[in-house]
Amino acid sequence: MTISLMKLPYESDALAPHISAETLSFHYGKHHQAYVDKTNAAIEGTDLADAALEKIVQAAADKGNAGLFNNAAQVWNHGFYWHSLSPQKTSPSESLSTAIDDVFGSLDKLKEALKDEAVGHFASGWAWLVVDGGKLKVISTHDAGTALTEGVNPLVTIDVWEHAYYLDTQNARPKYVENVLDNLINWQFASDNFDRGTPWTYPA
Ligand code: MN
Repeated sequence: MTISLMKLPYESDALAPHISAETLSFHYGKHHQAYVDKTNAAIEGTDLADAALEKIVQAAADKGNAGLFNNAAQVWNHGFYWHSLSPQKTSPSESLSTAIDDVFGSLDKLKEALKDEAVGHFASGWAWLVVDGGKLKVISTHDAGTALTEGVNPLVTIDVWEHAYYLDTQNARPKYVENVLDNLINWQFASDNFDRGTPWTYPA
């Protein structure tokens, strides 16, 4: 068994004009594919060859195997990111809504917190809404860093690597983040993750 490039949950032009088909053709078709290929090359012939992606990421983190971790974590992060976006308007479930209001005051305030984290994160990385010890929290991770190995339950993420937005908004990361937060965040996915209470798993 090898790790596969998961199917996109929508057509490649479905997120336009906020994220163009051209961006997706590179981001999904080239970057995500390359992380998949490099992960498969790294696990071939090892005791992780048949392991689930989550186990590979954790094992690489535990062993300090940066080469494998960077690629495997990026496969997982991108799968999670594609699901964190939706061309359809979605809204948080009642239970997630209540938790958002409790911690942030309102959905708009949470979006502001996510925007600050995503825009303020220096260089490449990911901004996340997670559940940490039963409480909602906004965090970011560097480079291939993933919430999956942070002992939290990730709800949604925003990719802030330049390859996520450079073709669409060039250097204007804030514009990209606004586009995502105002139009594309999949609150249904966040709610499913919140209500299930355990981390999402990458499709086998
Ligand atoms: Mn990316």
